[in-house]
Amino acid sequence: MNLDPRVAFVALGSNLDEPRVHVLRALAELSELPQTRCTGHSSLYSSAPLGPVDQPAFVNAVARLETQLEPRELLDALLGIERTHGRSRDGARWGPRTLDLDLLLYGERQIDEPGLTVPHPGLTARAFVLYPLAELAPGLAIPGAGPLHTLLSQVDPGGLTAIED
Ligand code: ATP
Ligand code: CA
Ligand code: CA
Repeated sequence: MNLDPRVAFVALGSNLDEPRVHVLRALAELSELPQTRCTGHSSLYSSAPLGPVDQPAFVNAVARLETQLEPRELLDALLGIERTHGRSRDGARWGPRTLDLDLLLYGERQIDEPGLTVPHPGLTARAFVLYPLAELAPGLAIPGAGPLHTLLSQVDPGGLTAIED
C-alpha cells in the first residue's frame, strides 16, 4: 500500500503523571494543529519501558494525520505539544517522560537531516509502534524497510498489551 503524500503517522508515548490522560489529551491536540486533521488513531497499549527498566510502564498509541504542514513544521508542532505537557529534555535518553511524540512516517518521504529522520529510526524494531500502526494501515510498506507485516513478524510483542481507551 502506497501512502498519500500528505498522510503522516505519529507515535505517542507517556509514562509519567497519568500517562493515559496525557496520550488522550495529545490525540485531541493533534487534531487541532493548523492545516491538519487527525483521521484515526490506534487502541492504547501498555508497554514495558525500553531504556532504564526502573521506570513506570508506558502508554503508547499511533495517530494518522492528514496535513498540509511540511515535515519540519509538523515536527516543530509536535515538539510544541510535548512542551505544553511539561516534557523536559534534561533526563536520561529513553528515561521517563510526560509525553513523547515521534514523527514515524510522512507519505513516502525519506528524510535524513539534522534533527529530522523519517521514517523514524526506531520504527522498524519497536513492537509498541508496529502493532498500533498495523491497526491503522495493515498493508503498509515502510519506505526503505519493506512490508509492515514482515517487520511485525520480527519483533517480540512481549510486554505489550492493548488497554481500554
Ligand atoms: P527515540 O528517537 O529513539 O524514540 P526519544 O524519542 O526519547 O528517542 P527525543 O529526546 O524525544 O528522543 O528526541 C530527540 C530528537 O530527535 C528531537 O529533538 C528531534 O529533533 C529528533 N528527531 C529526529 N527525527 C525525528 C522524528 N522523526 N520524530 C521525532 N523526533 C525526531
Ligand atoms: Ca521516542
Ligand atoms: Ca521523541
